[in-house]
Amino acid sequence: MELSQLNHFKQQLISQRDTLMASQQMAQSASEPVELDQSSVGRVSRVDAMQAQSMSVEATRLRQQQLRKITMALASIESGDYGHCQRCDEEIDPRRLAIDPAVTECVPCATQQE
Ligand SMILES: [Zn+2]
Repeated sequence: MELSQLNHFKQQLISQRDTLMASQQMAQSASEPVELDQSSVGRVSRVDAMQAQSMSVEATRLRQQQLRKITMALASIESGDYGHCQRCDEEIDPRRLAIDPAVTECVPCATQQE
């Protein structure tokens, strides 16, 4: 892969990472314990609060998963392995990387897995 292309993907990964970390921080401050007035909190709003909480747990999980992928991709840029499939070591199509620079598998390997 050309250096200019590599730098381009690196910039994308860094800005994606920054966005994810920022929304992670926002979610954390939003999920800080809220003072609940027990007398005014009914059953329905408790269920709502529980649903909202489980949704944000799922969102956090996905963010952390994506952050790990991005961190790994950035590490592989440093080690010179970036753009190679984790499974078969073939080069990953740059058009695929353009869609998601954090992908770790080539198209054939990724589709085999599905
Ligand atoms: Zn592969």
